[in-house]
Amino acid sequence: MNPIRTTCAYCGVGCGISATRTGERQIEIRGDPDHPANAGRLCSKGTHLGETVSLEGRLLHPEIGGKPASWGKALDHVARRFSETIARHGPDSVAFYVSGQLLTEDYYVANKLMKGFVGSANIDTNSRLCMSSAVAGHIRGFGEDIVPASYEDLDQADLFVLIGSNTAWCHPIVYQRIQAARAARGAKLVVIDPRRTETCEDADLHLALRPGTDVALMNGLLAHCRRGGLVDEAFIDASVNVPEGFWDTLDEGNDLWSVAKTCDIAPADLQRFFDLFAAHPRTITLFSQGINQSLRGTDQVNAILNVHLATGRIARPGAAPFSITGQPNAMGGREVGGLASTLAAHMDFAPDNVARVARFWGVKTVAAKPGLKAVDLFRSIREGRIKALWVMATNPAVSLPDAAMVREALSACPFVVVSDCISETDTSRYAHVKLPAAGWGEKDGTVTNSDRTISRQRPLFARPGEVRADWWIITEVGRRMGWKTAFSYERPADIYREHARLSAYQNGGKRLFDIGQHAAIGNAAYDAMEPWRWGGTPFADGRFPTADGKARLVNVEQGPIAPSLKDWPMTLNTGRYRDQWHTMTRTGLSPKLARHRQEPLIEIHPEDAAELGIVEGDLARVSTAQGASIYRAAFADGQRRGEVFAPIHWTDQQSTGGRTGLLPRPLVDPHSGQPGFKSTPVRVEPF
Ligand code: SF4
Repeated sequence: MNPIRTTCAYCGVGCGISATRTGERQIEIRGDPDHPANAGRLCSKGTHLGETVSLEGRLLHPEIGGKPASWGKALDHVARRFSETIARHGPDSVAFYVSGQLLTEDYYVANKLMKGFVGSANIDTNSRLCMSSAVAGHIRGFGEDIVPASYEDLDQADLFVLIGSNTAWCHPIVYQRIQAARAARGAKLVVIDPRRTETCEDADLHLALRPGTDVALMNGLLAHCRRGGLVDEAFIDASVNVPEGFWDTLDEGNDLWSVAKTCDIAPADLQRFFDLFAAHPRTITLFSQGINQSLRGTDQVNAILNVHLATGRIARPGAAPFSITGQPNAMGGREVGGLASTLAAHMDFAPDNVARVARFWGVKTVAAKPGLKAVDLFRSIREGRIKALWVMATNPAVSLPDAAMVREALSACPFVVVSDCISETDTSRYAHVKLPAAGWGEKDGTVTNSDRTISRQRPLFARPGEVRADWWIITEVGRRMGWKTAFSYERPADIYREHARLSAYQNGGKRLFDIGQHAAIGNAAYDAMEPWRWGGTPFADGRFPTADGKARLVNVEQGPIAPSLKDWPMTLNTGRYRDQWHTMTRTGLSPKLARHRQEPLIEIHPEDAAELGIVEGDLARVSTAQGASIYRAAFADGQRRGEVFAPIHWTDQQSTGGRTGLLPRPLVDPHSGQPGFKSTPVRVEPF
């Protein structure tokens, strides 16, 4: 058979894949040499996708109350319960919780149904946990959620600053591209991370800063640039607004010694970082969950953007801040407005935007204000204000902070629908209705990766059992709720065209997100679509999508360092393993991927372990005010003293221990609502 070109199921690098069917539910996977994200390369997760396409554990038929039901009955039931709840308690009594695993077309229809026709913005997404601080930071700094970098910039940069990112494990193809640039041109690599990870192994400099001091570090860097004459006054005059008193505030206390003390790093190392930055104008600062998943995430993002804006290291080849995202379609969800805090097509809830979208969708019911963000949404369910919930392609009972609270919420909710490709998840056990959704290899639509490249995901297999595409399921519910014309799509291309039309609708160049050139794309052209990046080189003309056309420096100050708590004296950091993904529903099917790490470990500095009486290889109990979990102890001298690290992947389904989701506090960044997973106060003791 001829190979089919599609896109990887996992991270936001968005690698192209060339898949050849070799038998029933069997495929041979290769990297797509013509995809701009990876040029044929794949990491271990992408390489072993072929081991994950069996039907093991799949949900193949609709169920009501745990019993098989026809699609007609299940859809009627969902539509009736949502309609009745809205009629009795109003539009804000229902909610959708969706996922960066959805394709853009699925996301668009879910957003349109909830925000446009139900009339509530209570649709949030697991992308809230991934990069909503980057979204909020981009909007504050640039006026729109724009990632102003591309992977080609990696080939031209002379300095890479990786901050809060274990890129070697979490975005391996980006890391390979960085290493290739270093080998070819001697580009330098600085890694800023409290842990010494695999990404640090070959770095020119590793700054193991105190967690939560990234604002101090970036402000210190900017103050140093100002003292050294590296601020680009001409660029600022033309393109950047500087708030009153910004420079005076920055100059205070941001000398080398004070910053080194706050960040707990050697002054000589800090000076080396500053010198490397000064010497290499072509700088890319890549940031990920270590920045975003923080109670100061948005300020940390803006501290990075401030440095790039003030030094003019943006919109030039090889120079930009670069948010790298975790999920395959985190960016596509942002484009359609899948976050509760955005409306659609990069618009917010300003009255003229609400009116514009209402005209486009032909309704008067468009939500006029933002909805509840993920943590508040589940709190609202637990408190009984939301009475019907539809969870699509995600597992909040594991992935949200304070998972015990989330389980209480799901248990208390009068009506829970779960559409998923997996039959038994920690979340689906609370479902009143389960709807079988297409998985990777069956889906048909588009995704947008971290550098704004839109790629096709193409089906490799016929959908098994009674499985249906997410967009079809949502459309059928919308039709049954009474909106037949608005939800009359027959194929994903119909939705993509409408999404493209909305992006350009009465836009007048106000927003950079505009894919209107595809508003009339034909079905065949959609099927054959090559990967393409929207937005060109953002801000290349020095104009930003704000009212005055200028970007904004944002006053951000380092907050106080949280003191160690008597009962919870250590700090828990969480993250991914190289060969696992989210809650392992797919990667857990691959024997080869399981070899890398077979169980969840708590990584602890040997001296901390000795003080606590913990023996390497023995079990240790990690507890917080929210819950407790058991791990096998692994000594790691790359851990800072007082800090431990645990993986996010294990759930009730795989293990009775290592359930990290039970531990974090449900505290969030005040601007983005993103939970602060990276610094939970914990107690660690022998088990
Ligand atoms: Fe897939 Fe990400 Fe690996 Fe690329 S880097 S193959 S997108 S998991």
